[in-house]
Amino acid sequence: MKRVYNFSAGPAMLPAEVLKRAQDEMMDWNGSGMCVMEMSHRGKEYVSIAEKAEADLRELMAVPSNYKILFLQGGASTQFAMIPMNLLGDSKNADYIYTGSWSKKAISEAKKFCSVNVAASSEKEKFTTIPDVSTWNLDKNAAYVHYTPNETIEGLEFQFIPDVGDKPLVADMSSTILSRPIDVSKFGLIYAGAQKNIGPAGLVIVIIREDLLDKVSGTVPTMLQYKTHVEAESMYNTPPTYSWYIAGLVFDWLKRNGGLSKMAEINKTKADKLYSAIDSSSMYRNPVDKPHRSWMNVPFILKNADLDKPFLEEAKKSGLVTLAGHRSVGGMRASIYNAMPMEGVDALIEFMKEFERKNG
Ligand SMILES: *Cc1c(COP(=O)(O)O)cnc(C)c1O
Repeated sequence: MKRVYNFSAGPAMLPAEVLKRAQDEMMDWNGSGMCVMEMSHRGKEYVSIAEKAEADLRELMAVPSNYKILFLQGGASTQFAMIPMNLLGDSKNADYIYTGSWSKKAISEAKKFCSVNVAASSEKEKFTTIPDVSTWNLDKNAAYVHYTPNETIEGLEFQFIPDVGDKPLVADMSSTILSRPIDVSKFGLIYAGAQKNIGPAGLVIVIIREDLLDKVSGTVPTMLQYKTHVEAESMYNTPPTYSWYIAGLVFDWLKRNGGLSKMAEINKTKADKLYSAIDSSSMYRNPVDKPHRSWMNVPFILKNADLDKPFLEEAKKSGLVTLAGHRSVGGMRASIYNAMPMEGVDALIEFMKEFERKNG
């Protein structure tokens, strides 16, 4: 069996231990004689799996008791619509911070439901920076403020939580959740597609403050109301049971490996190493302002784009795969989520140096 270092932005690598455990439990989960995929979501075995996953996530992220955790479907992209549908209340306005490709998608979806005030944008700077919070032009009538803490495509990350006063702060944490401890109480709503740092695609996690649940109008479709899923404990209909189970194994793995403060330490080390290799070379370049560089997604360009193809081909031969940048930006991108081991980053840096030596 051969395993590669997979730098995909998502679906991304999962911890090998998690995959092995899923393999061990495939035919017979804990003496049940069933695979988790075959279990009724209402049966006591599956309910115990679901409850443990939720409790472990609550513990890992220190989620306060006045927040609900939901395990939903439809990816982060469905949240782009559910957020305005559920949180606008009587307001017709929402603030959005425009820092890259994912916030752009969130904005264009929100425009179907309300008047979007783009309170700050780094479009002019090609999303290489984050406008200083003191310059944000927030609308006092806005129902909430939405931002994207980590722009997966541009590799731009907020290394701080913006202070937006009393307004609920809504965050698309798809590509940064669980990468470090965060203060959940600073947010109204957090959401994250699972396929980056949580588990398999098909699952999206929503963490919502209870007082925001009652703003929704009865005309919103039942499946698109957070309230429905809170009342049914994410089992209004059949949830993505297997993805939820694997997410639970990942949470368990995180707990056994030092939790989120340990992850933060490792993630910072991995990112620092890779950025310093890029900055000290004359072959590679990362355009993002240093204080706003992402720990999770590290884009870089080669000084000569003709070398892109050989770079990718030779990297693949060395067991380093999915390094091509997003089709909208080109170049390279190394996604180094929690499951990417230090050895994977070291191997990439070694390869980059060798490639520069041969082609520089
Ligand atoms: C991947 C990603 C999405 C889209 O997630 P889907 O689950 O495919 O809908 C949204 N936002 C961010 C920041 C992402 O990284």
